[in-house]
Amino acid sequence: MTDPAPFDRLFDVAIIGGGINGARIARDAAGRGLSVAVIEAGDIGGATSSASTKLIHGGLRYLEFYAFGLVRKALAEREVLLDIAPHISWPQSFILPLSKGDRPEWMLRLGLLLYDNLARRKIVPGSKRIDLRQDRAGRALAPRFTRAFRYWDGWVDDARLVVANLQDAAAKGAAILPRTRVEQAMHDGAQWTLTLSDGRSLAARQIVNAAGPWAETVARTVLGRNDSPALRLVQGSHIVTRRVHLGRDSFMLQQPDGRIIFVIPYERDFSLIGTTERDIAAPEAAAITEDETNYLLEAANRYLSHPLTRDDVVHRFAGVRPLILECGKGDRETRRDFRLVEHAGVPALTVVGGKITTYRVLAEDVMKIIAPGTKPWTAKAPLPGSDIERLGGETGQQAFARWVDNLVAAQENYDPKLVKRLAITLGTAAEPLLNNGLGRNIGGLFEAELQHYVDHEWAASADDVLWRRTKMGLHIGSVGRAEVAQWFGEATEAVVDDVPLTHRFATPGS
Ligand SMILES: Cc1cc2nc3c(=O)[nH]c(=O)nc-3n(C[C@H](O)[C@H](O)[C@H](O)COP(=O)(O)OP(=O)(O)OC[C@H]3O[C@@H](n4cnc5c(N)ncnc54)[C@H](O)[C@@H]3O)c2cc1C
Repeated sequence: MTDPAPFDRLFDVAIIGGGINGARIARDAAGRGLSVAVIEAGDIGGATSSASTKLIHGGLRYLEFYAFGLVRKALAEREVLLDIAPHISWPQSFILPLSKGDRPEWMLRLGLLLYDNLARRKIVPGSKRIDLRQDRAGRALAPRFTRAFRYWDGWVDDARLVVANLQDAAAKGAAILPRTRVEQAMHDGAQWTLTLSDGRSLAARQIVNAAGPWAETVARTVLGRNDSPALRLVQGSHIVTRRVHLGRDSFMLQQPDGRIIFVIPYERDFSLIGTTERDIAAPEAAAITEDETNYLLEAANRYLSHPLTRDDVVHRFAGVRPLILECGKGDRETRRDFRLVEHAGVPALTVVGGKITTYRVLAEDVMKIIAPGTKPWTAKAPLPGSDIERLGGETGQQAFARWVDNLVAAQENYDPKLVKRLAITLGTAAEPLLNNGLGRNIGGLFEAELQHYVDHEWAASADDVLWRRTKMGLHIGSVGRAEVAQWFGEATEAVVDDVPLTHRFATPGS
């Protein structure tokens, strides 16, 4: 997708970073009438915002650190997100098995009672104690686990959430510049001039630095500011394995070191297991280690009835949590909240920390600073793809479920699985694509589909499509991946040889 004339104007705001925070701020600002440019060094959502656990959660475990405000804010946001983006998010149940030596049952019951009641719930059910000998979820676990709680949170396709926000920002006039790094930004007392990696420059009244784990570096080296708080960079890794069980539940598994790991149904055929916590010096150093892989396998196998082996790992990836450095606190206690830093003497703001879950309120807080007097509008505005008419008081989730059923029925010439895949990827954009015909099969994807990612979602490489616009890289094997790479005119050797697959944390400009 090309922007017709991005630089013929003075932008109200230039946003550095096209992860979830930059994307969301762009959408909110553009909807309030500001002219916006988003400059992203790599692929949009290519860094932290495609490497998360993908939970829309209050963070049950943060209750242990009395972070009630953070949890309440996130729980309220959980309902909003599930309602405005039902094509890429859904309520997700979690089984929390009880066992001797872990947190006692009364403590978990009390925590879940709080969790159920800290914020209003319309979509997400409440928690329940279950007997694992009777419940289907018990089959996934070793027989010694007989008691558990089932509680609910949400799940979202993080990378697609970024795309949807940027699509709406672009529809409202924002210029989106992927694969372009901001090298330097100078303020002359009246406006900013940003120097971009392609040699062009761009003028803006204000800057929002939403560079995630690079925020501190960008504040210092690009904006020339030393008043941004220090970031603690904590690598978190995930493995993707064969599906460990057939039910729809996820598992929240307590570990002897006090940590918890999640085992989440992923992409129908797989399980996503994460995460780890490992301090690193720079985002560029992020890469999952063998120790982390073994840690996650052991952590899951402590509970599973059919233990996983190294051969069951089909994919691995690492992300970097940009946490606000708090002296004297361990990694689990360090705040997952965000902070907005207004740089002294210049119209520039750095966003530090945050979660996928709270990205919308973060953007609203940014608007209070950069566009005071304008009104919030996003809490009830469905994202592109979820723009479905709601009948008789339906929630977004209910409306989407009805719409998918109708789509499957209407597209009877297509395999229902394919129709559903496109529906939960593209939402309403799937309909015209199916109506117009999908074209040639390219390694398991379709030509019209690939063209859609290029024309409407800023995709420019096989990786963009296989691991972020979709997760088809998991499903189609090395030959399919090579075909997609060929379609993009890329050399294919690297794709074919990469087994087991490791998706490196994307570094800007790489
Ligand atoms: C392992 C892990 C698990 C997580 N799980 C969850 C979860 O389950 N739920 C949840 O709510 N949150 C979760 N999070 C947190 C969440 O993922 C992050 O808070 C969020 O993705 C941060 O988004 P961001 O936009 O700030 O950063 P990013 O997505 O990293 O975006 C920053 C962007 O800035 C770009 N950039 C950097 N320098 C420049 C430059 N000079 N010019 C232009 N662009 C530049 C980068 O390329 C990058 O794309 C998790 C995080 C991790 C690491």
